[in-house]
Amino acid sequence: MSLTYEKYPLKPVINASGRMSILGVSTPSAGVAAAVQHGLSHYFEMQDLADKTSAYLAGLLDVEGVALVSCASAGIAQAVAAVIVRDDPDLLVNLHTRPVNGPREIVMAKGHNVNYGAPVATMVALGGGKVVEAGWSNECSAAQLAAAITADTAAVLYIKSHHAVQKSMLSVAEAAEVARSRQLPLIVDAAAEEDLAAYYRQGADLVIYSGAKAMEGPSSGLVLGRQPYVDWVRLQSRGIGRAMKIGKEGILGLAQAVEEYLTRPKASGASMAERLQPLLARLDVLPGVGARVVWDDAGRDIARAEIAFDPARAGLDARAAAARLKAGSPAIYCREYRANEGKLELDIRSVSDSQLAIIGDCIETLIKEH
Ligand SMILES: *Cc1c(COP(=O)(O)O)cnc(C)c1O
Repeated sequence: MSLTYEKYPLKPVINASGRMSILGVSTPSAGVAAAVQHGLSHYFEMQDLADKTSAYLAGLLDVEGVALVSCASAGIAQAVAAVIVRDDPDLLVNLHTRPVNGPREIVMAKGHNVNYGAPVATMVALGGGKVVEAGWSNECSAAQLAAAITADTAAVLYIKSHHAVQKSMLSVAEAAEVARSRQLPLIVDAAAEEDLAAYYRQGADLVIYSGAKAMEGPSSGLVLGRQPYVDWVRLQSRGIGRAMKIGKEGILGLAQAVEEYLTRPKASGASMAERLQPLLARLDVLPGVGARVVWDDAGRDIARAEIAFDPARAGLDARAAAARLKAGSPAIYCREYRANEGKLELDIRSVSDSQLAIIGDCIETLIKEH
């Protein structure tokens, strides 16, 4: 591995920012790597491979159907295309070149219209949809969602994510209720979420996950859902989906990752909090630095370290500290969403104990230099 870093040449990275696409998301297990390797070194009847792995996963996940795609973004685009195209063979191959006679508006809460690295609305447009926002930046009730639905609505889209506004926001179950009462499908983007059952059970028709995030698979996307929607998503592989194709290695790697994910014991937030204690104790005594455990504000069982900088005493603010940590080698990436409030967060799900010690050393050095 170090050969790659030297050859190109690249900086080693300590990822304390979570499952971040800009850092390569996750590090799949040896079992997943073996499945990818097996996929790469064999031929398959590809349709059969897609059909049978999807059916196998649908059984494991106890859902009506599964579609395997190249990433969650591709899942959003193809889910939107699926609810617009349905099984119309002409529209399937002419989504962007023919006028659409049926509904094509995708209703979503304004506070869900976010940029996760690329905007959700860009993926909706790629799928031939037109975003219609419901509610306001900081609130959307079931009634406000319902008020945005018209005869041109093709689906309701819900973004279950820490990127989205959380407060005064209707739940997935409430959105499902609204969609059902108007005979519309509900699509949930749960790309980075950990629960593969909850949103489906709460009534979503299509739920989209990023294969590389919580499941730690290769670059891939998992769409699970109800009939006929999930079949219409699979149909998209002969339309716009062809430009977002998942390969045999991705299919087998993701299938293995899902299976391992369902059986592997999950690190609890409490165990993360415990692992953080030595680092917190060490940082909290530095001048102008406050360190404590904080919990995921989107409600997932994740504990993180919050490092608060008082620039007057620490000699630098959170933004400057983050920049210095990234500029070093190894490059240390923290969560910077609250840097404007003077706080950095460390997510240690992808950080080893020896890397935790390096993070402590680097922050200590930063403060001592100032
Ligand atoms: C990461 C993310 C995506 C995109 O996932 P990819 O697999 O990288 O395409 C979409 N939506 C949300 C909310 C995300 O967090």
